[in-house]
This record gives sequence, structure tokens and C-alpha cells, in this order.
Amino acid sequence: MVDRELPSRARCVIVGGGVGGTSIAYHLAELGWSDVLLLERSELTSGSTFHSAGLVGQLRGSVSLTRMMMDSVELYRRLAGTEHDPGWVECGGIRLACSPERWEETRRQAGWAKTFGLPLELISAEEARERFPLMETGGVIGASWLPTDGYLDPSRLTYAFADGARRGGCRILTHTRVTGIELRDGAVRGVRTERGDVECEVVVNAGGMFAAEVGRMAGVRVPLVPMAHEYLVTQPFRERDGGHMATLRDPDHLVYFREEGDGLVMGGYERRSAPWALTGGDGLDAIPPDFNGRLLEEDWDRFEEIAVNARVRVPAMEDARVTRLINGPEAFTPDGEFCLGETDVRGLFVAAGFCAHGLAGAGGVGKAMAEWIAGGEPSMDLWRMDIRRFGAHYRSPRHTLARVREVYETYYDIKFPYHERSAGRPLRTSPAYEWHRAHGAAFGEKSGWERVNWYAANEAEGDEALRPRGWAGRHWSPAIGAEHRACREAAALFDETSFAKIEVSGAGAAELLERLCDNHVARDVGRVTYTQMLNRRGGVECDFTVARLAEDRFSIVTGTAFGRHDLAWIARHAGPGVQVEDVTSRWACAGLWGPRARDVLASASTDDLSFGYMTLRDVAVGDVPVRALRVTYVGELGWELYCPMEYGAALWSTLWEAGRPLGLRAGGYRAIDSLRLEKGYRVWGADVTPDETPYEAGLGFCVRLEKDFLGRAALEQSTPARRLCCLVLGDPRAVALGNEPVRAGGRVAGRVTSGGYGYTVERSIAYALLPAEQAERGTPVAVEVFGEWVEGEVVAEPLFDPQGARIRGG
Ligand SMILES: Cc1cc2nc3c(=O)[nH]c(=O)nc-3n(C[C@H](O)[C@H](O)[C@H](O)COP(=O)(O)OP(=O)(O)OC[C@H]3O[C@@H](n4cnc5c(N)ncnc54)[C@H](O)[C@@H]3O)c2cc1C
Repeated sequence: MVDRELPSRARCVIVGGGVGGTSIAYHLAELGWSDVLLLERSELTSGSTFHSAGLVGQLRGSVSLTRMMMDSVELYRRLAGTEHDPGWVECGGIRLACSPERWEETRRQAGWAKTFGLPLELISAEEARERFPLMETGGVIGASWLPTDGYLDPSRLTYAFADGARRGGCRILTHTRVTGIELRDGAVRGVRTERGDVECEVVVNAGGMFAAEVGRMAGVRVPLVPMAHEYLVTQPFRERDGGHMATLRDPDHLVYFREEGDGLVMGGYERRSAPWALTGGDGLDAIPPDFNGRLLEEDWDRFEEIAVNARVRVPAMEDARVTRLINGPEAFTPDGEFCLGETDVRGLFVAAGFCAHGLAGAGGVGKAMAEWIAGGEPSMDLWRMDIRRFGAHYRSPRHTLARVREVYETYYDIKFPYHERSAGRPLRTSPAYEWHRAHGAAFGEKSGWERVNWYAANEAEGDEALRPRGWAGRHWSPAIGAEHRACREAAALFDETSFAKIEVSGAGAAELLERLCDNHVARDVGRVTYTQMLNRRGGVECDFTVARLAEDRFSIVTGTAFGRHDLAWIARHAGPGVQVEDVTSRWACAGLWGPRARDVLASASTDDLSFGYMTLRDVAVGDVPVRALRVTYVGELGWELYCPMEYGAALWSTLWEAGRPLGLRAGGYRAIDSLRLEKGYRVWGADVTPDETPYEAGLGFCVRLEKDFLGRAALEQSTPARRLCCLVLGDPRAVALGNEPVRAGGRVAGRVTSGGYGYTVERSIAYALLPAEQAERGTPVAVEVFGEWVEGEVVAEPLFDPQGARIRGG
């Protein structure tokens, strides 16, 4: 079924004939892209795909990822029984809970599932055994049951995709190794192969664990590591009753099972991970060029813990004879999520790093990638899987490896909300880092930055009685409330150096930003504007402030993790005459807010500080030259104070010394989160995503329909069917953290986007996207917090200082 002649041109070249590459080809063909060429260096499936265990589970930690898995299942179900049957068996999946914490996690997941439209049920240990009769129920508290999970044959699925793609016009050449990627002006113009060159506009790197190597051909870093992953296949030993046995996952014992004829497949995530084919100590992947259709040596030593645990759950494993222990490498990413999207090279896409979920994901990934390639932007929010979430620090193979190892070895661990990863830290630190450490900072990490969550030094001033119930109270400190109150009652100082900062300059800068922003941003020099940038669907692609520094120079400040994303969005729309530069590392930033903030700043500066809200001035604070922006994310009078990085420590200590006599307290990001919730300030990626318009997100006040901007046409044509609403829960100790289902009008009507406790308003606050008819003030709602429905209602927002009097100050 393979083509032989290498064409000299194709619109799109896909590198890699695993399940990922073939699925993208299949879906591109469905979208009418016939001029597609798939190149595979060996045989189809000869990378990781042929040795996959074939399990397909759907429930994941984010809406988009789960939706992708659901798309996969829908497709596999559709293909079953056709000439492209992938061997799909919809036997259902069980996930056991063997500890009270795991049971809480399971109940929490059952809540999410409701909002994703997944038919997940909670069942008893005995009900689990009815579906998987070989299991021992000892220690099982309960389980979740998803009847639409299943398994399939990885090779049949890949060939089914390949066949479908070929029928749609795609040419597939095996034994054709891509050896180079040709670029011109930062964009793809072709590939080189062992058999000749092919000109093209789009290259899709679907190279699986080889994707890092393929990326290097274009100077693009794809941060993934090949990890050895194992499962065993037993000989037939069980009697079948004709039906199918469910798949079984027992995360507390690190194992999973599925039927395989009259035997079983059993695998798991070993506590001792085994990165494979890396060079020396730096951790760079160096996979042998002839590694195709091959496996690694059986590693029983490493598999021992899994094998022992498996016998605890399925005693029959004791006597079952093992046909084979499969040990194969698979690409893992530093956060355990897929690596998708367009890279910094225009026209070069990547779809790799499937972290042992490539079969489960393939159908949905192929669809999403094809839509992304054909439409120029993804058709749903894929930020958590977007390659741009990986900052420059993932250029380091060693750092990447440290994170990958941690993710792999803790795969089945319960991830409590606000859980922080520890590998590879500290890496990026602000100039005041040592000060923070000396004052008992509890650090969190974002994009490699160490950021203060709270200071232990403030704990004594807080109120332990406010600790939220359950998991929300685990990574919590009374200091959060103390820091929050200091900001409302006196003043608080926050280190915000990690903010991502972008400068847009050049003769065309103003015109470009006006074309991309929904708000009017090319105002007078010195003005600051809060705005969004929208995609063609009218969804919010970026959400930040833009300050005009000069006629032809603008400064953008965005969230710590969003710099690469936002910069890429602006850069891809920029023509000649506009420079877009990441200046994050140039500027330290201290946020100073509160009713006494002006007194604090005035005691350290002789400059006139009376300039108005949403404007900026250059001032001196002590000995430090500062760009002061009169903005706020906490709803109080104050400034973001930027100075060149080398002055950062001096700025911090100057402000601290100046503020101490006035009641200034240093605060962390958890206090900021509580303050911003009371004011209804949105978080991009949670409350607002590329799937919501500014109107749906309650940001319509930014939209200037009288001017032309990207996304305006979509806004004009749509009537918001949903609205982001502020909810207040009746029980202040029940705190929602995100993804909890919201019941309104007698059904699950939406999901919490973010939530927390407001220490000034003394309420448990949650934001949720609800259908317009349920978004009215006073609508009764209930939010499921760990299996318990907590009553609440939709309220007018913001809860604190709706007139904004505090911000404008005296
Ligand atoms: C032991 C094990 C068990 C697993 N179990 C499951 C499971 O139960 N469920 C699940 O969903 N997933 C599972 N997986 C993961 C799954 O197998 C992978 O995620 C998936 O197969 C990856 O597909 P891919 O197309 O990205 O990569 P691959 O299948 O590796 O395909 C990449 C292809 O690119 C080709 N290539 C590379 N470089 C070039 C080049 N320069 N030119 C041309 N071609 C090139 C390679 O030859 C290869 O064929 C498992 C993985 C392992 C190792």
C-alpha cells in the first residue's frame, strides 16, 4: 500500500508514520488536504506504536485533553466493524481507590466528569469485581467506572489511519528518512531526505521519541525524553464467559491490567524511572539511527515492584506464566502533557510527547492538529498542550530530564491542589530571592521562576480557623489571610519580577497593536490599557496590559507563564518594521498596593506621585530608577514598580524599609489570588481561554467595536450563549478550586473556572461559565466540592469595591 516515488513538492510533509503522524494525515485528508506526503524512515508503526499496550482511557485533568480523548473514542467506535476496524473493544474501565485520599480524588474526578459529559460512575469494590472478576477486593474503598473506555490494536489503528489518508490523496513513503528541514526567513520551505528534497509549506514533526532530533533539524527545541516503559503479557490462563472484561487501573499499587485473549496484559509506572539513549550527563537524546521495530532488554529488576503489586490485586498473577516482558521507549514531556502546535519556525508543527497515552489520544490529536494546520489556529483551547508553554529553560536537556523523571515516577500519585514540583529548582530567581528566603517564604514555581506563595513570618498574624476544609486546606497557611488583609488595610509588597514582559517597537508597532487588540491601545504616550487579543473565532487569545512608552514603542506585561505564547501570537501577525522582543529578564518588578501605598512610596521618593490611574511615569525610589505603572490586580491604590534587574534587590529593600513604620507587609501570590477574586479580575487560561469571547468572559468593557481588529467579525455575529459568573457559596469553609461541576436549573450547567476564599468579604468565591439563562444575579446554584453539593448563588460582581473607589484613591 505504500507509494514509491518521492515527489519534489507537497503542500504538507508529515515526518513519522506512527499513530500520531498517520492520524494527522487521515484528518487532513478529511478536511480536503490531499497534497500531503507522509515520510517514515522505516516501516509504519516501527517507533513506539507497535509495542503499545493499547489501553484507551479518557478522563484527564483538563477539559480540552479529556475532550480530545473523547473524540478518539468516538472515532474508534465509528471505525469499528468497518474495513478500517482498529480492533476497538469498548469494555469499560475501572479505576480503584485504596486510600481515603484516593477515594476523595476519585469523587473529585467524578465531579469533573459530569462537566465533561463523561458517563463516569462511582461503584463499590464488589461492583468492580463483577466487571473484573480476577481482582481481589481487599483494601478497595470504591472505584470509578467509565463504560466507554476500552482498548484497541495499535497497529491496526495506524494502518486504518494510513489507508484512510491514502484514499484522501495522501502519499505515504516508508524507508524514507528525513535528514534536514529547509528554512527561509524563519519559515519552512522544504525537507531533505535520503532520497531527495521535497519543497513544502508545512512540516509536521510527528517523530514520537525522535521528535527532539527532528526539531533540531530546524533549530527548534522539543523538550522530551525517551523513557523505558514496561508491561508484560501472560499466557492464556483464564476462562472466558464470552464477554469482555473491563480494563483495571489500581494507581495505589501503580499497576494497570487489560485482557489479552485468555491471558492478561499488566503494566505500570515504576518508581525508578529509566531514561533511555541519552548522552553522558547532559541528558540529550541520542537514539541509535537504526532503532526501529526494536525493543529494549527485559528489565525485571525495575519491574519487580510492579509485579509484586500486581499479585496483590490479581492473585492469579502468581501462577500466570509470562509470555514476554515488553520494554519499549516512549517520549515523555516535562509536565506529562502532549507537545503540540506550531513552533517558533513558521509552518513547522509538532505533535509528539504522548507520555504513554498516544493511542488514547491519537484520534483527537489528529483531528485537533489537522484543524490547527488547515485553519491557522486551533479550534479549541489547547494551551496546556501547546509547545509554547515550555519556556527557554527547557532548552536545557538536563533540566528537562529532571522534570520528566519526576513526572514519570509520581505519575500515579495523588496531586493535591497547589502541589508544587521539586525537580530542577531553584532555577530563575528574582533579585530579592535571598530576602524572601530569609523571611520564611514558601515558594511556588512557575515557568522556572521561584515565586513567593506566602511568608511563614506572617503566619502568627493569620487566623487558623479560616483553613478551608479538605484538600483546599492542605497547601494553605494562615499567612495568606494576614497578607491579604494588610493589602486592604495598610499596604502590601509583592515581588512580581516573574511577570513576562514584551516590547513591541518600530514604525508599524501602533498600527499592529491596534489591529490585534480589542481595546484602543495606541493612546497618548504614558497611557496604560487593559486589553485582549482575539483569535478569528473571537476567543480571547491574550489578556494583558499595554503601556505606550513612546510613539513607536509599547510595553506589554502578561502572566509569568504566557510570555512565549503571547509573543508568538504578536510576532506571527507582525510585518516588517515591527520588532517584538521578550524583555522579561531585563526588568524586576515590585507590586505595592494598599490604602497606605502612596505614603510608603512618598517616603522613598521625592517625585510627584499624583499621576492618574492607568498611566505611567519614570520616578526615583531611593537610589533606584523606576518605571511606575499605576495599575492594579488586587483592587487597591498602588503601582507596579519596574526597575532594571540589577537594581531589584535595592528597590525591594528600599520599599520594605520605607513601609515598615506604615504597616507594610510582604505578601505572596496566594494573597494576590484571593484579592483578585474579590475584585473579579480574570486569569487567562482558567477563567478566560481562547474558547470564550470577551463578552462571555465579562470583558466586554474592553471591546471597541468602532475600530477594526482581529476577531471583530466573529464578535459581531455571535450572541453570547454563556457568561462567566461570580458565585458565592453558602459554606465559607467549602472552597472550590477549579473544574467542580455547577448545578443550576436542575442540571449540571457549567464548571468552576477558578475559586478561593475572599478574606475581606469573608465568602467562598467561585467563578463559573454558565448558560446565559442561568447567569442572572440571584440564580440559585450548587457546586460539588469533593462529592458534596454546596448551595450558593450567582451574585453581582465584583464583590469588593464595585465602584473602584479604592483604586483611584485619595
Ligand atoms: C511499553 C509501552 C506501552 C504503552 N501503552 C500505551 C497504552 O496502553 N495506551 C496508550 O495510549 N499509549 C501507550 N503507549 C504510548 C504509545 O505507544 C505512544 O504514545 C504512541 O505510539 C506514539 O506514537 P507516535 O506516532 O508519536 O510515535 P512513534 O510511533 O514512535 O512514531 C514516530 C515515527 O517517526 C519516525 N521517524 C523518526 N524520525 C524520522 C525521520 N527523520 N524521518 C522519517 N521518519 C522518522 C519513526 O521511525 C517512527 O515510526 C505505550 C508506550 C510504550 C512504550
